[in-house]
Amino acid sequence: MIAVLAGGTGAAKFVRGLLEVVPPETLTLIGNTGDDVELWGLHISPDLDTLMYQLAGLLNEERGWGIQGDTFTCLTAIGRYGEPTWFQLGDRDLATHLVRTKWLRQGSSLTEVTAMLCARLGVRARLLPMTDDPVRTHIRTPSGALAFQEFFVRERWMPEVVAIEYRGSERARPAPGVLEAIGAAHGILIAPSNPITSIGPILSIPGVREALAERRDRVLAISPIIGTEAVSGPAGKLMRACGYDVSPLGVARYYAGVAGRILIDEQDADWREAIERVDVRAFTAPLRMTDRAAAIRLARMAVACLHSET
Ligand code: GDP
Repeated sequence: MIAVLAGGTGAAKFVRGLLEVVPPETLTLIGNTGDDVELWGLHISPDLDTLMYQLAGLLNEERGWGIQGDTFTCLTAIGRYGEPTWFQLGDRDLATHLVRTKWLRQGSSLTEVTAMLCARLGVRARLLPMTDDPVRTHIRTPSGALAFQEFFVRERWMPEVVAIEYRGSERARPAPGVLEAIGAAHGILIAPSNPITSIGPILSIPGVREALAERRDRVLAISPIIGTEAVSGPAGKLMRACGYDVSPLGVARYYAGVAGRILIDEQDADWREAIERVDVRAFTAPLRMTDRAAAIRLARMAVACLHSET
């Protein structure tokens, strides 16, 4: 069994490779819900959806979110009423949010709803939300706090970042199965996701950090940073705002309490010594998932690093 802590697009690219390397039944993905948002009265879980669509073979891989071949008729109609359309929702994607919201209102938990949606789509891996409780990542800027989607999508991550908050996390409990999966897995992978806004919220749930720390030598983080930049998105900007170097060493430091192993890009091999000084074992591989073959190679390497005794 392998457990994977996962955000959205970076994690989905990695999962695409992983599905070719290990049987789906042996995978438990623990997804970030700090990005969840309510729009049009609907509960939207962008990272869970991205993962679910990837697991079901439906993901629009060019965009990294949404469903292949989806249309935007409903969103266009919403725009004609003068309502904001900055958060794009495809028509088929909307069906997911309608059904999720109905089932939640009928009293099912997010864990149950996610399992039911996955089952109907024929997904064989297990997908768990990090928690059933509301936790919402907010980005504090000089002119006030923004919910994650407002910062990321509406403001295109331009505002200066002062601090990050995982609102509600101190009262949240890990979703059923999360701690068990971490405790029972042969190995735990931290996907190449944004450390601050995708993995940070998962680590902020009481009990998760402790459960990982106990298995630290079985936890491998895959760096989303190559050289001194994120492969994409605001991970670098957010790490800097939280006081971490934007480098493989910064990632290793960020995860040092929970991950005893890290996979860094082969071009960053010179960082190994510094990383090992913070008591994290560093492995190298090409980390850019430019196509399916590259994602498979990376997944194979990550699984091998979990097993490695040296
Ligand atoms: P989000 O919730 O959509 O932001 O998705 P994630 O947090 O899962 O993914 C975003 C992160 O993935 C960014 O920090 C990127 O640097 C990282 N990423 C994207 N593509 C790649 C890749 O090909 N290789 C690696 N190593 N990281 C990647």
